[in-house]
Amino acid sequence: MSAGLNLAQLQAVRFTSGPCLVLAGAGSGKTRVITHKIAHLIEQGMEPKRIAAITFTNKAAAEMRERAKGLIGKAAKDVVVCTFHALGVRMVREDGKVLGLKPQFSILDQDDVTSILKDAAGGTTDAATARQWQWTISLWKNMGLNATQALAQAKDDHERSIALIMQRYEERLTAYQSVDFDDLISLPLKLLRDHPEVRAKWQAALGHVLVDEYQDTNATQYELLKLLVGERGRFTAVGDDDQSIYGWRGATLDNLKKLPVDYPQLQVIKLEQNYRSTSAILRAANNVIGPNPKLFPKTLFSELGEGEPVRVVDADSEEHEAERAVARLQGLRAAANPPPDWKSFAILYRANHQAKPFEKALRKANIPYKVSGGTSFFDRAEIRDLCAWFRLWINSDDDPAFLRAITNPKRGIGHTTLAQLGAFGAAHHTSLFAALFSPMLPATLPRRALDGLHEFGRYINDLEYRARQTRGAEAARAFLTEWLQEIDYEKHLYDGEDSEKVAAARWSNVLEFCDWMAQRAGGQIDDTAGATTQMETKSLLEVAQNIALLSTLSEREKDQDVVTLSTLHASKGLEWPHVILAGVTEGMLPFKLDDDGGRQQKVSDDTLARLQEERRLMYVGITRAQRTLAVSWTKKRKKGREMVAAQPSRFIAEMALSASTAREDPREKLKALRAEFARKAQERAEPPVG
Ligand code: ATP
Ligand code: MG
Repeated sequence: MSAGLNLAQLQAVRFTSGPCLVLAGAGSGKTRVITHKIAHLIEQGMEPKRIAAITFTNKAAAEMRERAKGLIGKAAKDVVVCTFHALGVRMVREDGKVLGLKPQFSILDQDDVTSILKDAAGGTTDAATARQWQWTISLWKNMGLNATQALAQAKDDHERSIALIMQRYEERLTAYQSVDFDDLISLPLKLLRDHPEVRAKWQAALGHVLVDEYQDTNATQYELLKLLVGERGRFTAVGDDDQSIYGWRGATLDNLKKLPVDYPQLQVIKLEQNYRSTSAILRAANNVIGPNPKLFPKTLFSELGEGEPVRVVDADSEEHEAERAVARLQGLRAAANPPPDWKSFAILYRANHQAKPFEKALRKANIPYKVSGGTSFFDRAEIRDLCAWFRLWINSDDDPAFLRAITNPKRGIGHTTLAQLGAFGAAHHTSLFAALFSPMLPATLPRRALDGLHEFGRYINDLEYRARQTRGAEAARAFLTEWLQEIDYEKHLYDGEDSEKVAAARWSNVLEFCDWMAQRAGGQIDDTAGATTQMETKSLLEVAQNIALLSTLSEREKDQDVVTLSTLHASKGLEWPHVILAGVTEGMLPFKLDDDGGRQQKVSDDTLARLQEERRLMYVGITRAQRTLAVSWTKKRKKGREMVAAQPSRFIAEMALSASTAREDPREKLKALRAEFARKAQERAEPPVG
């Protein structure tokens, strides 16, 4: 068990009798402590299902379960490895009854929430305003406020009006038997706080709780953790205050400060050796984070040697930057024998839209890549259509899903009919689905409209029944294929798109999604959303229940040999041998406050605090690199619609690189091209294998 752990790590792993905080810089093996501690607890005799390990993303959960499996084998599948949100879903499904929620509640996504808010405000609001409300409401919820409390503490008329909308929003959610993402934390919290029997049950069920990336938890998550572990406080939190990058979403370093106060018996363990990066990279990282105030002083060292100097690459434009990045990848491949895999490269940037030029350049060079942390598969219209149907099978009170399903594909039920149905539902306090079968409805609707509604209602009931019976991959695939034919979804896509190519791409997404659903029903892939891994077959209905939580089809991404394009936020906790940080341009990173029209400024007026968070973001980026790191910047950048002259980010100067080695040799590109030609020529000369 002690294999591959240093003394401090070992101490953290072996201390299981009380609260433990591992506070350490990037790459010092914090996540490794968690996986090893899971194994250690099991070896000590704790039942796997009594251990909960909380990660920041589903992807991190999948990875952690994989690593735990490597250490302890099959027992790992019963350990609860998931995000706070997924744990919340499980708690609310099991015990939500006491809050008046049925187990089949729906989980609303961002778009549903925006349209409910627009509706709650009377319907004339634009999407941007609705999203701003959503943002404010979400912050309030994360502070533990409900609408009444938000109203009481509102500072001005603007906030008061949002609090009133929040009130109507809450009413709607209750009516729809639906919850939003913030509820997945606040409802479990309410459950544990207000219901001693539920609290006792969960405290008894969990023997030890481990939390990765603790610095990015918010106030409600911390409260939830406290109630889950109770007085004994058997938990292990690992984190790094220098990597706190979700302040804009309500995460708070107060959680770190509070731990020693709330738990005087807290064991604080510091790790100082970095096992990830070369000294050159680590020095740049330490230099950048230096100017930030220290919550806890830390020093980090590496024994991996000095390594390659960190390079700075300047580019004329974003396109040029992308070309130079590709040249760098090719150069690094050409310089090593055997060449590194594509999956050992990552290109990281501040914002999603920055991926575009890199995608283009990589495609042009025939280099395989994936974009992670970008627009999710589940945000695509076609996938959201299908999910609306699933949601309706599970929870017929889900009005937003009802409206989407009944109109996609169109089935000749018009807006007037739906508006009348809506009015009827509102008048009788029932959901649209329940309204449709009401014996009083015929009096208010024409015959033809009524028939259409009834047919739809019966069809949903029938699908729900069949989905419940459908178990295993083959059956699920057959069911889904038949259903898509019945509703003629392929035709719907082609009718709705001017471009056949776009329609075909959408249809192929649909097929891929169904295939993935079928695999889950067959238990062939881990259920990263559910709190436990179940490798048994599942009914299609069970599979559908957890979809809302997933943001990527991450399981498919495993082991693909491709270059990663990712936002800095999504790169947290990960590592690659070769990293390029792109767009390290003043105004992009750090992001310039006045570029967004002051929109974000409402969230935090504190410019200095924001600069510090940007600096931590840069620190996270630098510390993803194991062996080589290049930072690139552009001499022009977009500001609104214009292009303006730009300077290298102040963070580049802060890295304090040696001027003689930092500038990348422009001849690299030439060398790379030559090497690539040589390789191609050699490939042609070699007979094909097989
Ligand atoms: P981050 O702050 O980025 O989340 P971390 O502190 O969680 O980083 P890990 O990801 O756990 O760090 O570890 C970084 C790398 O160092 C991993 O590749 C891990 O396998 C390796 N590592 C950690 N501890 C040791 C050790 N004692 N011996 C050898 N390798 C180690
Ligand atoms: Mg980690």
